[in-house]
Amino acid sequence: MVRRCRERLPDVPFSVVDDRREVQTVAGDFAAAKRRLLLAPHRGSFLEHCPAGTRGLACCNLLLMNLASNCPMDCGYCFLQEYLADSLPLTAYVNPEAALAELALVLDRHAERHFRIGTGALADSLALDPLTGLSAEIVPFFAARRNALLELKTKTDAIEGLLALDPKDRVVVAWSLSPPAAVALAEHGTASIPARLAAARRVVAAGYKVAVHLDPMIEHAGWEEGYRDLVAALANAVPVDRLAWVSMGALRFSPGLRTRVRSRFPGTPLLAGEQVPGADGKWRDFQPLRVDMYRRVRGFVEAALPGVPLYLCMETPEVWQRVFGAPPPGEQALGARLATR
Ligand code: SF4
Repeated sequence: MVRRCRERLPDVPFSVVDDRREVQTVAGDFAAAKRRLLLAPHRGSFLEHCPAGTRGLACCNLLLMNLASNCPMDCGYCFLQEYLADSLPLTAYVNPEAALAELALVLDRHAERHFRIGTGALADSLALDPLTGLSAEIVPFFAARRNALLELKTKTDAIEGLLALDPKDRVVVAWSLSPPAAVALAEHGTASIPARLAAARRVVAAGYKVAVHLDPMIEHAGWEEGYRDLVAALANAVPVDRLAWVSMGALRFSPGLRTRVRSRFPGTPLLAGEQVPGADGKWRDFQPLRVDMYRRVRGFVEAALPGVPLYLCMETPEVWQRVFGAPPPGEQALGARLATR
C-alpha cells in the first residue's frame, strides 16, 4: 500500500517516522490534519459495533470495520471534528489483512448469522481508494463469503477501483445524499450530487448494489422540493431492484461537537435551528420538525422507489411510531433484513 501511494503521488514529499505522534499537527488544527496522510499499521481490534445501538435508540445491527481514520473532505456536521480533535492526521491502515483475518473468525464462528459490515464510520470508505487500492483487497474477501455484506459508504465518486472487481452481490456501495443546496451549505470538498449519482449508475452496471443514506437530513430553504427532486434523481439513476435500502437520519451534535462546529464554522446555519438534547445526549432538530421531514421524505421514497426498505438511523422508537405508524423491528430482525438484501 505504501508503494502504491508513493507511485500515485510522485510529487508529494514522503518521510518515515518512528512514532506517529511526530506527524501530529498542532492540536485543534483539524483542517491541517486532513492534509497529511499517515500510512501505519493498526494495533488492536478493527471491529466494533455501531454506536447507534445505545441508550434507547433503534439499531440496525451494523458491524464496523475501521480501515482508516479521518477524511480529506470536511463536512460541517462531521462528528470526526470532535472525535479526532487531537488532530492526528488522516490515516490509512496498511495491514487490512489483519482486519480481514479478525472478521473471518467472527463470520466462521457464527456461520448461521448474516452480518452487515461497514467501513465508513471513522472515514469515508472510498476517499482514499484511488491511492491505497484497498477495495481490490477487501471486495474479493466479501465476494467469497456467504454470510457477510460489505457496505462501502461514501460522498465521493471514487469508484474506479471497484469497476473491474466482481462483488458477487456481497458488496453495497452506499451514498450519503443531500439536496444540492444542503451540500453547498455543509459538505465541503465532497463530490456533487450529479457526480455521486453518475458513479452510482456506473457501479450498478459493474454488478454492485447501491444504498442511500438521507442522513443527516438538513432543514434549509426549499428542503421539501430539494428532497423530492433528489429522490426523483435517485430513481432515475438506480433501478429499484439494485437499491438495497434507504435510511433517514437527523442532523445531530454532541455538546462537544457543537462547540467545535461553532469555532470552525462561525455563523453556520447548521446550528441556527431549534435543537434539543435527546436521550443519548446529542442535540437534534425539534422532534415535530424531524417527524415532519421524515414523513414527507418517506412519501417521496415510497412513491418513487416502491418496495425499497426504508429505516431511521439513531432515532427513538417513539419517532419510528410517529413516522411509520409502527415500532421499529428488533435490531436482529432489521439487521438481518438489510444484510440479506
Ligand atoms: S465525508 Fe463523511 S467522514 Fe468525510 S468529512 Fe464528511 S461526514 Fe466526515
